[in-house]
Amino acid sequence: MVEVDSACRAEPPIDPAAIRAAVARAVAGLDTGLPLSTVLSRARIGLLHRDRRHRVLAVNDRFCELVGRRAAELTGLSIEAFLHPEDLPRVLATYDDHRARSTPFEVEARFVRPDGSALWCDINVSFVCDAAGTAMSTITIAQDISARRAAEERLRESEEHYRHTVELNPQITWTAGPDGLVETVSSRWKAVTGGAAGDAMGTRWLSALHPEDRAPTMSAWRASVATGKAIDLEYRLRSPDGDYRWFRSRATARRDESGATIRWYGTLEDIHDRKLTERALRDSERRFRLAAHAAGLGIWDYDATSGQRQWSDELKAMLGLPLDAAASVPVALDLVVPEDRHRLQALIAAVDAGDGSHRFDTILRIHRADTGEERWIRTGGWRIEAPSGKLSRVLVTTRDVTEERTAEERIRFAAHHDALTGLPNRAKFGERLEAAIAQARAAGGEVTLVLLDVDDLKETNDTIGHDAGDVVLRTLGERLHRALGAGCTLARLGGDEFAAVIASHGDAPAVIDRVRTALHAVREPLSHEGRILDCQATAGGSLFPTHGETAAELLKAADIALYAAKAQYRGGLLMFEPPMRADLQRRSSMLSIARDVIRDDRILPYYQPKVALDTGRVCGFEALLRWQHPTFGPQAPATICAAFEDFELALGLSERMLGAIVGDMRRWLDAGLDFGRIAFNLSPAEFRRDDLTDRILGRLERAGVPFDRLELEVTETVFVGRGAECVATMLETFSRAGVHIALDDFGTGYASLTHLKAFPVHTIKIDRSFISHIDRDAGDAAIVDAVVALGHRLGMIVVAEGIETEDQARYLLGQGCDVGQGFWFGHSVPRDEVAAMLHRRHPIPRAALA
Ligand code: C2E
Ligand code: CA
Ligand code: CA
Repeated sequence: MVEVDSACRAEPPIDPAAIRAAVARAVAGLDTGLPLSTVLSRARIGLLHRDRRHRVLAVNDRFCELVGRRAAELTGLSIEAFLHPEDLPRVLATYDDHRARSTPFEVEARFVRPDGSALWCDINVSFVCDAAGTAMSTITIAQDISARRAAEERLRESEEHYRHTVELNPQITWTAGPDGLVETVSSRWKAVTGGAAGDAMGTRWLSALHPEDRAPTMSAWRASVATGKAIDLEYRLRSPDGDYRWFRSRATARRDESGATIRWYGTLEDIHDRKLTERALRDSERRFRLAAHAAGLGIWDYDATSGQRQWSDELKAMLGLPLDAAASVPVALDLVVPEDRHRLQALIAAVDAGDGSHRFDTILRIHRADTGEERWIRTGGWRIEAPSGKLSRVLVTTRDVTEERTAEERIRFAAHHDALTGLPNRAKFGERLEAAIAQARAAGGEVTLVLLDVDDLKETNDTIGHDAGDVVLRTLGERLHRALGAGCTLARLGGDEFAAVIASHGDAPAVIDRVRTALHAVREPLSHEGRILDCQATAGGSLFPTHGETAAELLKAADIALYAAKAQYRGGLLMFEPPMRADLQRRSSMLSIARDVIRDDRILPYYQPKVALDTGRVCGFEALLRWQHPTFGPQAPATICAAFEDFELALGLSERMLGAIVGDMRRWLDAGLDFGRIAFNLSPAEFRRDDLTDRILGRLERAGVPFDRLELEVTETVFVGRGAECVATMLETFSRAGVHIALDDFGTGYASLTHLKAFPVHTIKIDRSFISHIDRDAGDAAIVDAVVALGHRLGMIVVAEGIETEDQARYLLGQGCDVGQGFWFGHSVPRDEVAAMLHRRHPIPRAALA
């Protein structure tokens, strides 16, 4: 409350009656001497005693001071002269009224000084009367009350201000007695609740509360009243329209010196809108947390104003922390792997410094606190700023992306690697080759490119199964990788193709040696589900910059070399040489001719007689393949010999030949022609199929041709290498069925003589190359002698091929060779000429007759 100004208290209130009595005594006793006026002056009270004509009888200094004039000037001046014009009518009316009855009066009015200033004074006027009661003189005493007036003015102003403050305040103010019963309430109560102020008095205000809020509010208020402690609570108040709005109620007690409550002063503040916003925020936060939970997101919430950090349970679970773990930066940093720690530090620093963008996103690796397992955590966040621009909150979401990442990595790896062997794939290899070439070009080095082709993979797949093929590929990949060693990129280009690229500086020959050694090292057979699989590859290589300037040129050259190696050097490496190009062309044209003649059924067997050297009788024929050229007529097999090495084409050619031969034999048998035995050449490639025996024996059987009418010519190469045991089994089957087996081109291959014992061989055919020099080359003659003797010792028939002269025939007969074959006896002839050939008597070497 506003207090009365202290200046007011400085001038003690005068007791006018006492003064008047003193004055009257003085006047009556004619004691108008100075002592009284001096006393009054000291008391700062002005005194003026004038007679009826306004002549001054007595005046003190204070009065002169109050009216701002000297004592002499006061004589003759009427009261109008020194009263404020606004106050004059009131004062004059009072004066006239009291003078008539000579009763004293008192007014408050302003003296106006000659300088224009005005001064509020309390003015007492008394009349001194004669015995008849007529007023003879006037005694005026005045006291300055300007200070009090000013204080009163201020007080009024303050009260007005207070009233405005309270009444216009949006808050409802109220007061209650020490007992807690409401005594006053501001007029806003009515506006807010629609009820009269009286409805708030005592405890009636409670009925305006929401029913749910009444009991808790009442008990809280009672507790406050009992303890005198301030209260601050929220409840709903009914609005005039019947809805409830949220209010905040606060009250404090005013106490006396002993601490006892004098009054309660309280306010009611409408917080409804804030409350709704808060609830909406809470709801949206709850929704956010639910969504985060559902999405498996962890939350790191940092309140910059309070400095508080909160980690959601999901985040703790993600980090492998117990749920009661405290959120702290050092704990988080400790879990991040050392290599990624700087990233989290940088993020935190950026947030602290308030720079960086409002959104951030990064991926960190952590080691889980519980298992130590490494996990990938994606961290994304927002900085939220207060309207002032100051950082208020940082919200970070975290997600464990380990599985996604490994899947991504797998996809990335798969895009560049072969699934079966784990080696780089063609795409990746292309990149490496280009890079190696670029590097060699810049540094003046060399690059060796090697293309490798797995031998007989297709046959393994077709005959044993794809599982076996996969095992071969995987094993070969591993072995090559190990054998080629570091500094080499090995890739699987697809199918049965591998490739290697090796950079070198001037030591390409050493690199090539290394590849050759590796090829040799991987060749060890492989056991898979009880079967032995061949694990072998043939390779062709090219060299940068010698064989090509670009990757494409190098690949082409290596491919040509590989083709050549496949034809002549299986299991080894051939480096590119320019003539290989022509060779390749020739060979591929052979294959294409073979394809055509098979398709067009232009294959026909020619028959070359075999003659018993001692009798000159034809004991059989060798069927030799010819194909019909539309213009040039029958062509020799040399024109398509590459096709015999091709798995598919060899089979196609064989089927056509065999069909024709069996048909011919059937017809000759029907014609009663004794053609002896027909020899048929088998390509090594044909042994790679399991159904070889069924195919041939089945055909003979269906045609009703006795098995012993057929002889199969095989070369020594089928006895070595892959599937030798299979070959043995097949030959056994043939042999048991009565089919004769002849070992063709004997002496040219790599077979050892032990093969003659290991395989069921009935006939040895000494190769033409030994026969042609037999009369000139003692070495060849010696070999022929030995073979004849050996064959006989083993109970075999010995055939000499390529006999072109009588001398040769004579020599062989002399050595005891059984059968001769060659131009001297006769060229191969078409089927129609076989009968004539049989009937013809062949010459017997003359010397032998002698
Ligand atoms: P080969 O099995 O050694 O056949 C003998 C080859 O020597 C035949 O050549 C034949 O015409 C030739 N020849 C016979 N007597 C003489 C002679 O006195 N002097 C000379 N210089 N050559 C003689 P051809 O018919 O050109 O056959 C060449 C090769 O083609 C055969 O050698 C054989 O390996 C292969 N071949 C022929 N027909 C077939 C077949 O039906 N299947 C398979 N897989 N290979 C066949
Ligand atoms: Ca032959
Ligand atoms: Ca031969």
